[in-house]
Amino acid sequence: MRSQAVVSKKNKLDSTANFILKVNKILINTFGKPSRNLNSSPVDVLIATILSQNTNDINSHKAFLRLKRKFPKYEDILNADLRTIENTIKIAGLAKQKSQTIKNTLREIYNKMGSLSFDFLNSLDIDDALNYLSSFKGVGLKTAACVLLFGLHKNICPVDTHIHRILNRVGIVNTKDRNKTFKLINESLHDGIAHEFHTNLIKLGRTICLSQNPVCYECPLKNICKFEKKNFIKKGYKKNQSKKSDFLLLDSV
Ligand code: SF4
Repeated sequence: MRSQAVVSKKNKLDSTANFILKVNKILINTFGKPSRNLNSSPVDVLIATILSQNTNDINSHKAFLRLKRKFPKYEDILNADLRTIENTIKIAGLAKQKSQTIKNTLREIYNKMGSLSFDFLNSLDIDDALNYLSSFKGVGLKTAACVLLFGLHKNICPVDTHIHRILNRVGIVNTKDRNKTFKLINESLHDGIAHEFHTNLIKLGRTICLSQNPVCYECPLKNICKFEKKNFIKKGYKKNQSKKSDFLLLDSV
């Protein structure tokens, strides 16, 4: 009985893994293989991800660059006045909350580790590194996964609202909870595909699989997508709107 359950779980994982590969291939044929920045530091990615909450990539990138100019060494933020941080990043919105999160998180990390280096995370396995990062107040699972993918180049796919929505619509998962979606896809992810899969899903979510009125007639996944309410009404969609979404923050820090 028990071994039957194990076999059935393995079959499910294999089938999810194959579905992911199929979707990934179609997205690469559509959007290409995304280039990636292999020089960003994990702390840069952490700060950029905090700044990116509830705003667009362009504004959070401006805030990120301003913060770096104002505080060339992140250690300088540890004792900085919150108002100064707030004024520096205000273009990213929610400046009060974000300045507190940035300062508190850096302070917590510094107190615990004695420095702001995340290099030791390379020696941990992915689950331990995720648990460690998300133990800091203000660092959720998505942010922790972004640090591992973009800052430490691990094979892990963070799940934001776009990705959660698309994976459920397409039928790769069937969950209401982002963290559950994250767990399910990451246990089925083939080596080396997390960055391209994540990046191309974001592009799809920003340009075609929109939250309201997805543009299903333009979608490269329409023949395999299991969404029951596909939208084939051609109204009001401007193809060049995708240009706005070409800039992706976390490969630019
Ligand atoms: S077919 Fe429609 S619902 Fe399915 S992934 Fe494409 S845009 Fe989204």
